[in-house]
Amino acid sequence: MKKGKLIVISGPSGVGKGTIRAKINFDDYVFSISSTTREKRDGEVDGKHYNFITKDEFIDKVNKDEMLEYAEFVGNYYGTDKNEVLKKLDNGENVLLEIECQGALQVLEKMPNVLSIFIVPPSLKELENRLRLRATEDENKIEKRLKKATEEMNLQSKYQYIIVNNNLEDAVKELDAVLNKEINGI
Ligand code: 5GP
Repeated sequence: MKKGKLIVISGPSGVGKGTIRAKINFDDYVFSISSTTREKRDGEVDGKHYNFITKDEFIDKVNKDEMLEYAEFVGNYYGTDKNEVLKKLDNGENVLLEIECQGALQVLEKMPNVLSIFIVPPSLKELENRLRLRATEDENKIEKRLKKATEEMNLQSKYQYIIVNNNLEDAVKELDAVLNKEINGI
């Protein structure tokens, strides 16, 4: 059976990765649910948005080599379950990871034939506005996420495709076009 394709969508926190993905028409993929030690936000569901686990559980998974990639991001751990992803790829399913940049780079180093897409904000100022509007973090965390974003913007050249999220509809169209071309050849 033909193997599935691993798709990595990355970019700074608050850039709109999740919002864009939620709106695409392309649906020939499964979303990889990450594990995180971060606190659950209002409206988030365990097992759907993330697997919410403790720091000890996370470290145990890392020590048992169960993570395809992981990163510490602004005080919390985030990671992708290796077996889940490999099983799905073997099963012919396209697996989409929506992850921050350190983890994305680990995946690019480890895995062959990854389709990599980086989403950037029109400017860092605009990213700051979006993070503040989202209001899911306190000021200290917003500052940390912005500092991280500045570093992450320097990693764009590692990705096959860059999509600027200036206008949501255009970004959705672009992502749809990339996925249709790279996965369905249309
Ligand atoms: P948030 O706390 O806003 O949900 O996520 C913070 C950052 O972690 C986002 O950029 C998000 O894409 C990223 N992220 C989510 N899951 C994973 C994962 O499994 N691995 C890595 N490396 N980053 C992740």
